[in-house]
Amino acid sequence: MAPDAGSATRTRRTRGEGQWALGHREPLNANERSKKDDSPLNVRARIENVYARRGFDTIDPADLRGRFRWYGLYTQRKAGIDGGSTATLAPEELEDRYFMLRVRIDGGVLSTEALRLLGELSSTYARDTADITDRQNIQYHWIRIEDVPTIWARLEAAGLSTTEACGDSPRVILGSPVAGIAADEVIDGTPAVEEIKRRFIGADEFANLPRKFKTAVSGLPDVAHEIHDVAFVGVHHPEHGPGFDVWVGGGLSTNPMLAVRLGAWVSLDEVPDVWAGVVGLFRDYGYRRLRSRARLKFLVKDWGAARFREVLEREYLGHRLPDGPAPETGERPFDHVGVHRQKDGLCYVGAAPVAGRASGSMLVAAAKAAERAGSTRVRLTPQQKLIVLDVAESEVDGLRTALAEAGLHTDPSPWRRGVMACTGIEFCKLAIVETKARAARLVADLEQRLAEIQSDIDDPVTVHLNGCPNSCARIQVADIGLKGQIVTDADGKRVEGFQVHLGGRLGFEAGFGRKLRGHKVVATELAGYVERLVRTYLAQREQGERFAH
Ligand code: SF4
Repeated sequence: MAPDAGSATRTRRTRGEGQWALGHREPLNANERSKKDDSPLNVRARIENVYARRGFDTIDPADLRGRFRWYGLYTQRKAGIDGGSTATLAPEELEDRYFMLRVRIDGGVLSTEALRLLGELSSTYARDTADITDRQNIQYHWIRIEDVPTIWARLEAAGLSTTEACGDSPRVILGSPVAGIAADEVIDGTPAVEEIKRRFIGADEFANLPRKFKTAVSGLPDVAHEIHDVAFVGVHHPEHGPGFDVWVGGGLSTNPMLAVRLGAWVSLDEVPDVWAGVVGLFRDYGYRRLRSRARLKFLVKDWGAARFREVLEREYLGHRLPDGPAPETGERPFDHVGVHRQKDGLCYVGAAPVAGRASGSMLVAAAKAAERAGSTRVRLTPQQKLIVLDVAESEVDGLRTALAEAGLHTDPSPWRRGVMACTGIEFCKLAIVETKARAARLVADLEQRLAEIQSDIDDPVTVHLNGCPNSCARIQVADIGLKGQIVTDADGKRVEGFQVHLGGRLGFEAGFGRKLRGHKVVATELAGYVERLVRTYLAQREQGERFAH
C-alpha cells in the first residue's frame, strides 16, 4: 500500500532535511558530496595550472560538471540534439567541448571601457556571442578552456569577474539600473551591493550553500524583488528615514513562490551584515537532502516570516531589527527603455535588443556611441535591456541613431520591448525547445501582424519564452508565459511547442500566471496564437484593465 502524504511528511521530518545546523554534516547526495570533497573555489587553480594548459580531455568530470559552475562555466549543448532525445544520453554525448561563460555584473553597472572590453573579448574568444541575461549578466558561448585564464585576467583588470556567477553560491546581485540617478528612488543601494561583493563573493564562508542564492538591492521596485531569495527594497521609515525593507524566500522554477516581507527595516550600512545573516541562515538551516527542495523558499514556507526573522536576529545578528513599513509597489518592474531625465538634469537612454540577444560587435558599438555622446557609464537591466547614462539633451538624438544602427532600439515596438527569452536549445543542455531565434521571429511577426493596433497597446504585453520547466526567463510572472515542451500537432506528430501560462505579474498585485490545463501551442503557430490573444484582450478590456487583471 502506498504511504499517505502525512506519513511521508512525518518520515521526512524524522530523518531531517540535511540541515547542517541540526547536525546533518554527512553529504546526502552527489552534489553535496562533491562540495564536501573539495571546495568548488579550488577549481580555479586547476583550470589555470592544469586544464587550460593540457586541454579539455584532462578535465576531471567532477570539476567539469560540478565545480566549474562556481566560475560561471558550463559546457554548452552539442549542436543538433533535439529536445525530445536527451533523457537517454550520457553527459558526454550531450555536451560540447566549448563552454558558456557568465560574467557577473553586479547591479548591472559598467563603464563604457568595461562594455567595450566585454565586446572585444566576445569577438576574440566567443565567436561574437554576448547575450544580456535577465539577471544583468553577460553570457558568452563557444569559450575554449585554453582561453579562460586570459579572459579572467582581462576581466579582472577591468573590475569584472565570473566568480560565483553560477553554482550553489551567492549569484550576481541585482540592482536598480538607475541607482543614483533616478529622481524618484528612495535610496541608492549601490554602496551595499559593492560592499557585499567586496566582503563575501568568492569567500569560503558562503561558497557551499544548499543551492543557488539570488539577491536584489534596489531603491526602486524595478528588480523583480518578489522572486529573489533575499531582496532589499527602498522604503522611507517614519523615524529612521530612507533604508530598506527585507523580503525573503522568493523563487520561480517548478515550485514558484513569491517572497515574503520580514517586516524589518535595515539601514544602508547594515545591509551587508543582514545579507550575510540571511545567507548564513540558509547555509546552516537550508535543506540539503533533495536539490528539488534546497532553495531558501522551502525553508521560508515551512518556518514563516516571523520565525525566520526571529532566528536571523537571535542567531546571526545578535540584535533586533526595527519594524518597518512596506515599500510602495510599482505597477510593474519598469524596463527604463526610452529617454528619461536624471535627477541632475542630464538624460538616460534605454535601448532594447531582441530578447537579450546581443553580440560583441553590438557592445563595442554601444560603448563607442555612448562615449561619442559624452557618457562613460552604462547599465544592464533585469529586462535584458541596456541603458546609457549621463547624456546631455543635445546629444540624445545622435545617440539614439547610433544605438539603433547597432541594433539597439530606444523606441521599440511593444513586442521588442516585452518579449524575453532564455538561452534555450541553441546552447543549454537542459532545453527542450529553441527560444532565442524563435523570440526574434515572434517579435518580427507581431510587429507586422499587429502594426495597425500597435498604438493601442499602452501597457506592453510581456511574452516570456522558456526552453524547459526551469524558469530562467520568468514565465510565471509574464502576461503570456511560454514553457517549452514537446507537444502533439494536428497531424499527431511530436513537435516543439509551449505550455501556456496567462496573467502573471510583478509589482502591484503580484501573482503567478495561470497554467491553462491542456492549453498548449505548437511553436510554428506561436505568432498567430499571441495575435489572437492580444486582439481579444484589446477588444474586450474594460477601462483601466491590464492584461493580468
Ligand atoms: Fe536552459 Fe531551461 Fe533555463 Fe532555458 S529555462 S536557459 S532551457 S535551464
